[in-house]
Amino acid sequence: MQSSPTADERARVLADGKTIPTIGLGVWQVPNGPECVNAVRWALDAGYRHIDTAQAYGNEESVGRALRESAVPREEVFLTTKFHPTRPDPAAELEKSLRRLGVEHVDLYIIHWPAKGPTWAWPGMEEAQRRGHARSIGVSNFSVAELEQLLALGGAPPTVNQVQFSPFEYRRGLLDACARHAVTLEAYSPLGTGRHLGEATVAAIAARAGRTPAQVLVRWCIQRGTVVIPKSTHRERIEANVQVFDFTLSDTDMTALDALDRSGGTQQAREGKWWR
Ligand code: NDP
Repeated sequence: MQSSPTADERARVLADGKTIPTIGLGVWQVPNGPECVNAVRWALDAGYRHIDTAQAYGNEESVGRALRESAVPREEVFLTTKFHPTRPDPAAELEKSLRRLGVEHVDLYIIHWPAKGPTWAWPGMEEAQRRGHARSIGVSNFSVAELEQLLALGGAPPTVNQVQFSPFEYRRGLLDACARHAVTLEAYSPLGTGRHLGEATVAAIAARAGRTPAQVLVRWCIQRGTVVIPKSTHRERIEANVQVFDFTLSDTDMTALDALDRSGGTQQAREGKWWR
């Protein structure tokens, strides 16, 4: 089991008992300003209850503004931000994020990548949680080896590992290790930052199912047990990308999609590490 699905598969339960909506809107590369405010507002209108931002994205103000302007109450929205690990103090950086976001806490705070090693920032992440500024804490871009070094510290275990994950990057070794350690895998770049949408197998399955390629790729992640955070700044795409709970990919389709993997079922989180 990757993480416990709830009855209607729209949410999953993290190892610390908190519930995370299965689909979130990602806002990487969305400029701070109206484009980001609109994307988040449209997502909330379309039923998303999970937004994924980061200190590195520079758009926390807009995410916060959209949350405030929306009719959806703050407590119904699962909000993630990420610690920029070239900075020294996770707890202090989260306080700045909270001011930019205009909220009292985030639901999830994760180390964006294991800069300077996988363990040094964790005590600061735990401190952010102790202060009540992060409900859950986790990591991103951690390989199995890095995850296991962190777990060996014996502190609060990370609840999630957010990694690049799609049929083309089907990191089965990493997915299996996350499941063994009760770490929920969050799939980032599920559409390959747009690159996977035109691939022939995906297009053929989508055409047969009467769905879009994006819906097929998001649905594949859900059926592989992950949380998934597609990004779009177009209203109709934002709306369509979340319409994935009313169909199922057959075992044959899942197997055909699995076969697109180019990672070799790796335990690594990245083939190339931008932080090295
Ligand atoms: P995705 O894989 O979600 O793909 C987004 C791209 O696909 C955009 O160009 C978007 O265009 C396009 N797109 C989206 N929906 C559709 C659709 N229905 N039809 C056609 N095109 C579509 O990209 P990301 O790489 O942004 O990954 C998603 C999120 O994951 C990020 O936003 C971020 O939150 C997170 N992430 C985390 C990382 C980490 O290190 N932790 C690294 C990378 C991503 P348009 O916007 O113009 O509609």
